[in-house]
Amino acid sequence: MTLRSYLEGSWRAGTGEGVPVADAVTGEIVTLVTSEGLDLAAAVTYARRTGLAALGELTFPQRAAALKAAALALQERRQELYDLSARAGATRGDAAVDVDGGIGTALVYASLARKGLPDHTLIAEDDPVPLGKGGTFAGRHILTTPHGISLQINAFNFPVWGMLEKLAPALLAGLPTIVKPATPTAYIAAHAVRIMEEALPPGAIQLVAGNISGLFDLLGGQDHIGFTGSVATAARLRSDPAVTRRSARFNAEADSLNCSVLGPDAVPGQPEFDLFADALITEMTVKAGQKCTAIRRAFVPANLIDAVTGAVEARLARVVVGAPGAGGVTMGALVGLAQREDVRAAVARLRSAGSLIHGDPDKVEVVGADAERGAFLSPLLLRVDDVARPEPHEVEAFGPVSTLMPYGDIADLPELIARGKGSLAGSVVSYDRDFVRQIVLGAAAHHGRILVLDRDSAGESTGHGTPMPQLVHGGPGRAGGGEEEGGLRAVYAHLQRTAIQGGPAALDSIVK
Ligand code: NAP
Repeated sequence: MTLRSYLEGSWRAGTGEGVPVADAVTGEIVTLVTSEGLDLAAAVTYARRTGLAALGELTFPQRAAALKAAALALQERRQELYDLSARAGATRGDAAVDVDGGIGTALVYASLARKGLPDHTLIAEDDPVPLGKGGTFAGRHILTTPHGISLQINAFNFPVWGMLEKLAPALLAGLPTIVKPATPTAYIAAHAVRIMEEALPPGAIQLVAGNISGLFDLLGGQDHIGFTGSVATAARLRSDPAVTRRSARFNAEADSLNCSVLGPDAVPGQPEFDLFADALITEMTVKAGQKCTAIRRAFVPANLIDAVTGAVEARLARVVVGAPGAGGVTMGALVGLAQREDVRAAVARLRSAGSLIHGDPDKVEVVGADAERGAFLSPLLLRVDDVARPEPHEVEAFGPVSTLMPYGDIADLPELIARGKGSLAGSVVSYDRDFVRQIVLGAAAHHGRILVLDRDSAGESTGHGTPMPQLVHGGPGRAGGGEEEGGLRAVYAHLQRTAIQGGPAALDSIVK
């Protein structure tokens, strides 16, 4: 039953009892997770020696080819990952977001690197800048691979995508990766590593199932830590001496009270009115709302709030909750019973600021499973009229939950949006260009990404909640202050930038 870790090129089981991980749908135990007795120091040494050396022998396009091969291996066997994802409550559509999303992300990175990075192991970032009048002295910047590792710590909700979006830039940068998946879905991440391992150079990837206590003590200025999870864990890890004293790079993606804003022009009958309601339903139900980018705060013009409520409720009434794969099911389960309790507690706090207008946190009709044994929850729509209340802007219910809030004056919106204190994603749904401009410019400083949704772009739009590998994913403040993805920016973020100075010929000889 014990989930094995992939360390130093082989699969090893930890000792001790382990943390039981239950099937989100049936409650049966899927696996036990423990890292007790595993030699994590040896894994770090193996990464630094074997992994770093193997990747160091490859140029950027060669690393891109390895990444592509790993992604194609996953593609070939993705059904296995869908099947495992169903045990974590994910419908086929949810699993596609994680599995296909992850594969697609890796493939985009491989392609960007093949086209945009040199056939070399270093990047000359700029042309020489003359630093003397006589032309004998100049400077430029080079990017080289640090002598370290990439430790990635992931949240439970995207075991495949979360791993691949961090693995891709690290691998391209030449850094070996150690993955620490979240315990509730570690078995899915581990299976993905089993599928990929042969396509990757030795030591390029390792995985620890279970806790990684002591590992931070081994990290320092040459290492990169990529964290996704809650604000509380981010704060704890960020204050570790590995980061505060030894300056390991630390990138965090944390909670986010993302918003969507409906424009005053988008009255019923306008395409944007329906686009807004449809997007809200998508964000509430995909992955049962367990998405860091999901819309938690929906701002609508006060004179439209009843119409919007009606439109959203009509759509919610069509949501069928149940076992992934069972007939007609459109929304699966939360990852586990503990997660359901967390969401219920968060909803109770949100309710204290307003009213619950759709769904019952304690009761849901379920198709193909037992509503209590499985971690099922009804989609829950709240309405808070007193927008000055802190709860809707601060309490993240990490499930199928969203709160409608009215606004009167457009000029109030930037300040209202900013009460989220930094978000990963926001959207503006309107066909009024002046309104869109005002909101995007007013909200940009608080966001990592903003989607403008209207009738012209809707057909091709990738949607509010989907991070794109070409674009920045991350957000200021509460969202963690980090930046992932963003095309090759993410590769550069793993490399060391060094200014080199000297005569032009000497500089040329270094970068040739
Ligand atoms: P979490 O409890 O903070 O855990 C995140 C990860 O940190 C897990 O792998 C966890 O491992 C690990 N961890 C916990 N304590 C640790 C420690 N002392 N040392 C090293 N690792 C430690 O978050 P979660 O419940 O998995 O995820 C839900 C949260 O993540 C939500 O708040 C959501 O908003 C956020 N999230 C953000 C993004 C984003 O991109 N910004 C994406 C997804 C989720 P264990 O599981 O073994 O405890």
